[in-house]
Order: sequence, then C-alpha cells, then structure tokens
Amino acid sequence: MASPPGARSDPSATPMMQQYLGAKSKHPDTLLFFRMGDFYELFFDDAKVASRTLGIALTSRDKGPDAVPMAGVPVRTVHTYLLRLVRAGHRVAICEQVAGPAEGRDLFRREVVRIVTAGTITEDEILDRAAPNYLAAALPDGESAGIAWVDLSTGRFLVDHVETERLSEAVSRIDPAELLLPESVRENEGMRDALSREGRPVLALRPDWEFERAGSLRTLHEQFGVRTLEGFGLDEGTAGVCAAGALLRYLADTQKTALPHLARIERFDRAGAVSIDPATRATLELVENRRGGREDTLLSVLDRTVTAMGGRMIREWILAPLRDPVAIAERRAGVRALVEDRNAREDLREALRAIADLERLGARIGCGRASPRDLGMLRASLRAAPAAREAFVSSPAAILARAAEECDPCADLRDLLDRALLDDLPLIATDGGLIRAGFHEELDALRDARREGQAWIAALERKEVERSGIANLRVGFHRVFGYFLEVPRSQAERVPADYHRKQTLKSVERFITPELKDVETKILRGADRAKELEREIFEDLRTKCAERLPRLLATARALARLDVLASLAAVAAERGWVAPEVDDGEEIRIAEGRHPVLERLPGGNPFVPNDALLDLGTNRLVLLTGPNMAGKSVYIRQIGLIALLAQIGSFVPAASARIGAVDRLFARIGAGDEIVRGQSTFMVEMVETANILHGATRRSLVLLDEIGRGTSTFDGMALAWAIAEHLLRHAGCRTLFATHYHPLTDLAAEAEGARNAHLAVREWGEEVIFLHRVEDGATDRSYGLHVARLAGVPREVVERARAILADLERDEEALSARLLAGAPKRARKAAETPDLFATRKGEVLEELRRLDPENLTPLEALRRLKELRDALP
Ligand code: ADP
Ligand code: MG
Repeated sequence: MASPPGARSDPSATPMMQQYLGAKSKHPDTLLFFRMGDFYELFFDDAKVASRTLGIALTSRDKGPDAVPMAGVPVRTVHTYLLRLVRAGHRVAICEQVAGPAEGRDLFRREVVRIVTAGTITEDEILDRAAPNYLAAALPDGESAGIAWVDLSTGRFLVDHVETERLSEAVSRIDPAELLLPESVRENEGMRDALSREGRPVLALRPDWEFERAGSLRTLHEQFGVRTLEGFGLDEGTAGVCAAGALLRYLADTQKTALPHLARIERFDRAGAVSIDPATRATLELVENRRGGREDTLLSVLDRTVTAMGGRMIREWILAPLRDPVAIAERRAGVRALVEDRNAREDLREALRAIADLERLGARIGCGRASPRDLGMLRASLRAAPAAREAFVSSPAAILARAAEECDPCADLRDLLDRALLDDLPLIATDGGLIRAGFHEELDALRDARREGQAWIAALERKEVERSGIANLRVGFHRVFGYFLEVPRSQAERVPADYHRKQTLKSVERFITPELKDVETKILRGADRAKELEREIFEDLRTKCAERLPRLLATARALARLDVLASLAAVAAERGWVAPEVDDGEEIRIAEGRHPVLERLPGGNPFVPNDALLDLGTNRLVLLTGPNMAGKSVYIRQIGLIALLAQIGSFVPAASARIGAVDRLFARIGAGDEIVRGQSTFMVEMVETANILHGATRRSLVLLDEIGRGTSTFDGMALAWAIAEHLLRHAGCRTLFATHYHPLTDLAAEAEGARNAHLAVREWGEEVIFLHRVEDGATDRSYGLHVARLAGVPREVVERARAILADLERDEEALSARLLAGAPKRARKAAETPDLFATRKGEVLEELRRLDPENLTPLEALRRLKELRDALP
C-alpha cells in the first residue's frame, strides 16, 4: 500500500523521529535513506553530507534551535544518487516502509532492507554493462596474502593467493569497486595507500574476527551447501578462504537476503592464463586507452558481441589469454568454423540479439529483486535460446558443440512464463497488469466480478435517469470519494428518497445510494485483492525461476561463449585475418604482421606490414632503433598484440604467424615518452621495470619502449643498457627493445642472442620519408632534426641544433665506451672493427658453451684454453 504521492511528512513528529533514530543507531556508519512516500529523506549530519556530495537542497522543517536539517531524493531517480554516493565512498542504508500503519496507529513500519555500497550495486541502470563490478576482500597473512572477489551482479566468485608484496598489483589487476580489509591493517598506512589509489577501490575495514578461519569455513559451507571446499579445488587452510568467508559475511550484512545465485566459487586459474599486469594492460591499451576511454583499444576492435554477457566475457578473455596450446586450438577451431560458415555465424548472432543480460537478471532473480519486466526478458531470452542450441549441438568444432550442449533453454520454465505473464509487463509488481486470463482461477473470478460491477454501473446511469426523470443525471468517479450520482443543483430536489447527499459543489450535488456503495465496495475490494493476488502469483513465478538459477547461469555462460567466438569470427572474416599456429616452441615468427587497431589508419594511408622473428637462441633480444615517428612503438606493440590475439584463440592480422606460447606478457613505456596512467614519473617507470626484471621467465615476452627516457640522457641510457643486458643474461626471454639511444646498438654486437633492427627511412633531398619498414641492422643517426624541420622549427634553430648535436655525439661515444666496462680495451677495439669482433667473439663463446669440463683431462683443458685465447682478436 503506497501513501499519497508527493507526501513528505513532518520529521519532527516524535514517534516517527524515534523510529528514524532507532534505525540510524543500528547503522551508524551509513547514510540512512528514510522512505517517506515518494522520497527518501536524510536527516541531521546525513542530510548535510548528502547535500554537499549531491548538490541537493538542505532544508529543515522547524525553524529555531530545534530545527532538524533535512534533505531528500525522489524514489524514482534514486539510482543516480546512490551511484554518486557509493563512488564517493559512502555506504547507504535503505530504510523502506515495509507495512502499512498498524491498527489504530498512523505510523508505517519501516526497516533497513539493504545497505548499498560501491561493491554491492546490482541496479542495471547504474552498472557498466560491459565490465564486472567486483567486491573484493584481502587478507595479508605473513609472506602471502589471500584475496577473494565476487561480482554480485553476476554471481562470479573467485579466490587467489599472491605474495603480500604483490597484493596491490593483484588488486589493481582485479580492479574491484570496493575492498574489504581486516581492521588491523588500519595502522599499516603504506599498505592502505598502495591498495587504494585516488579512492578506488573504496576501502572498508572489517573486524579481524570476520576473517577467522572457522567462521569463514562455516559461512562458505552453508552458502554452497557443501561439507568441504575441496570440490571447488580450494585448500581450506588458506588465507584466500578466510577472505572469501569475510566477503560472504559482508554480503549477508548488507544485502539482508539469501543469495542463491552465488552457487560456486572458483580458484583463479593463474597457471592457465598469461599473466598481464596493469602496466602492460595500459601500455598495450587492451581495454582502455590512455585517456580512459574505450576507443582505439584492442577491445574496441574485437568486441562485436551482441549480448551483455558476451561483452564482459570478451573483455575477460583479452585480459587473461591462455597458455595451453591445446585449449587455444580448441577456441580457434570454434572461431574457424564460424569464419567459414557465414550463415551460421549471422544466424547465431541474430538469435543472440534477443537474449537479455541473463547473468545480471539471474542475480536479481536470486536476490528477489527481479521486476515483472525482468521475467518478461527472461521469457524472451528462453524463446531465443533453442535456435542457438540447435545450430551447434552437432558441430564438429568441440567448443561449439559443448556450448550448445550446456545451453539449456529451460522449456518448462519458458512455458510457464508464457502461460502466466502478459505480453507487455510493468516495472513493478504491485499494481497489477501482470497475469494472463485463464492462468489462475481465483484471479479470473475476481476479474469477472469486477467486470460485472463495472457493467452494472455503466447501466446505472440510464436506469437512474429513467427512475428519477432527471435527464442530465450522470454517474462519475472520484479518486478519494469513489462513485457518485451527480445532478445539477437546480434538480437536486427531485432525487429519489434512497439518494444520500455526499458532496455539494458550486453547480452540482453528488449522491450515493446503498446499492451503489455496495457495488463500489465490491469493485474496489476486488481490485485490491486482484492486485494482491497478482503480486503473489508473480512472486511464486520468481521463486520458480530462482530454483532454475544454476541452469540459467550455465546457459548464460554458454551463450556468452558462443557470442564471443562469433564476434572473433566476424572480425577475422571482415578484416582478412589468418589462423595462427600456437605451440610450445620457442619461436615467434610473424610474416607481414599488422597492428590490429592501427591497420585501419584514418586518412587512407596504407599500413605497412612487417615481419618479426624472436626465439630463445640468437634472436632473443631485438634492439629496435630509428628516428622519432618511424614506427618503433607501433611495431613492438603489434607483436605483443598478435601474440596475445593468438593466445586468446583469435585469428591475427598477418599473412602467417607462429607463436611459441608466452607465459607472461610485459610491456612498458618510458615515462618521458608518453604519460603512463596519469603518473608520469621516472619512479613509476623504474618500479614497473623492476617488476619485469623480477617476473620475467624464459617463456615470457617483454616489450620495452624507450625505457630510461624519464631521466637525463646518461643515466637513462646506462639504465636501459643494464636492463636489456640483464634480461638477456638472466631471464633469457624474448625481448623487443625500442630505443632512440644509438649507443645501445653496440650491445647487440657485444652480446650473444641480441640483434639490431631499425625502421627504414629514405632521404629525399632534405626530406625524410618514413617507410615504416623494419630492416636488419642498426640505424646510424637520429632524424630528430629533420622531424623538427618538418614541423616548422625555423632553419637557424635547426642549424644551431645540428652543431650542438655534433658536440653531444662526441660525448656519447665516450659514454658508450665507458658503458662497455668490464672489457674496456676490447670495447674500444670493437667500436673500430665491430663486425670482426662480433663474429670472433661469438665463435669463442660458442666453443666455451660446447665444452664439457667434467669429461676433460687436465691436459686437454689447458690445450683448449690456449686455443680459445688465441682465437680472440
Ligand atoms: P616511434 O615510436 O618510432 O616514434 P610510432 O611507432 O609512434 O613511432 O609511429 C609514429 C606514427 O607512424 C604512427 O602514429 C603511425 O601513424 C605511423 N606508423 C607507424 N607504423 C606504421 C606502419 N607500419 N604503417 C603505416 N604507418 C605507420
Ligand atoms: Mg615511440
């Protein structure tokens, strides 16, 4: 029962204020939204905070010293206000009118039904359709830390463990909206700052005991209805399990309802996925560009999904490519089947277009928040699902056949919804207009009675005109007063004796008769009862849907997978991409590769394709030099992106590609070169580089772009050199290093496994033409001055710069000599005869490598040593 629209009762009315204060005292750390008619009202300090944060008017009912500050937001648009408040780090308690006034009282019963926080939003209107909204909990436990995260809007629930040192990196990879930490972390300011930057995620400190093992296990067992979590692949003794328990407890506190859609928990599959850290994600602009938008990202190219679930899943795939060539091949076979059969692909996408966001819908069904329109969307989705299923159950591509198999159109449920619900459904369940005729006997009877009553009233006018002889008597209805018989005042004397006067207006009198009153009561009571009954039937339907949740959610995931595969196929077909080979080999060999985002350059300039070869032998490190604007950055990113595409199972922009699977992908960009995540500091650059030096393994792929640029030339170059050398010698991984420091090219001559490549330019008179073509060997000069001239810098300035450059280059030579420390004399020699030195030295090293000291006699060893020395230049 709703109170009159627009009503804003007086907050100083004592019993209600007492009710308010009672609710508030139970939720002291929240902003309390107190439902009053069509508004949520805030009082006291809450009102001031809301007024400040939302820019809404601060009012007060009473003037004088007892004035209570008050602010309100309309119920209808509450979502937008909620979003702003929770983003700002507030928690909002929603206190609803849960029942009408008790007999003889005029106060609604009110209860806090839910606490809304940044990590627990489920409202479709304010959630980003294409990205998950995670609530996370972390528990640092000595060296290692457990972390659990859940998307309440879809039911996805995961656990992982990381070194405590790497916790903040893990958190930023997950990118939760809200993070729960044990209270005891309060003192550790360093950790708190590292975990939350600029207010994201919102931190919520929870009592330490909520993270305790025994309680957490109990909570988890109960939620999933299991005796042990081992079935989910989880070790019960770990910090991650404690964090997961704390999460559930928090959800119970804030949601105040059962959450049946949280039916399982997964261990984050670190071993199966290529690890991509946040800096790499940003550098390669995978899902977000540098300006924080979605244009010109890899996601923007790949995402042709038509369902919201598919949109989120393709993002997931991009951020966690696979490592296992077999799993990758399975996805690729699915993509290939859909590339080759255009009709099947388009039919599938057509069918998917009718499918709603079943994951989020499922979550709302689970929380008992699904609206009639939600069930209508479920019904429409279930109608469309069989087409997707039928098309692929017998597909030779295993991944398609399996997805089709898992897609359960729940025919019985669809049938039920078809029979029960009207075609057009309202947003709320309390005003009727939901249930079809013929579905429920009592409801049909009520409706018949109402129709009879209305027919009786419709006939009444004619009957009463005849009986009274008053020609302009009419029957009317007023929202408050109900039905009446109306006659002009001049005729009022002539009404029959059983008329009772009800209301006198300026020119008319209104009457009722006992009979009319009777029928009216029947109609209105019948209408109320019918609405009530419709709501009950609806809730029953919703419960039936909730019982099918596991099947619905499995269906949602299966449809999402089909959607993603079809999306990858659509892109591949349209752009002429090819299927790469992915194996456990050591090579990355790409012929005529292109940058997936830039291959369609605006302005019609054709993109110049380039080959690439990296391996774990003599092509471990490629040092890429070339003038500014030549295409270095584009080239190294394109190789990373092609490897990544191959490992998510996609086709790639190349003539052919063979990718020896990568276990980790690192990409870094020098702080001086471009702005990284708004924090353009050399420190950030070095921290991120240090991460690579610690994290790269032999199977990793590392892309370094102008590293060392963020500081002065000399230490920048020295660092760049040392970093490249370290990667080469220690991790030994495949590395691309783009740099404009020419002296670095000496490293390739010096070190085994490194080679030089450059971007070709052609000089045409005074002009420099960028060919964007990668060729072997180093460049010998920088073309910065040419670029400056092209950009319109005055000739005198360019000439003066040329003179300064000559000086600097003399200095740089000296520096490069110094950098070759360890063998200073040789280095200088090397500079004179680089090629000879390189080959001879290479031979000597090769000899050394082949030696097997264990099986040498001392005499033999001496002889070989002498040979080696003689072989040196
Ligand atoms: P660098 O890192 O060497 O300074 P970039 O990689 O940033 O240069 O490339 C500069 C510009 O050159 C790009 O914005 C792009 O417009 C163009 N470009 C780069 N590579 C190619 C290519 N292979 N084909 C066509 N244009 C390219
Ligand atoms: Mg660059």
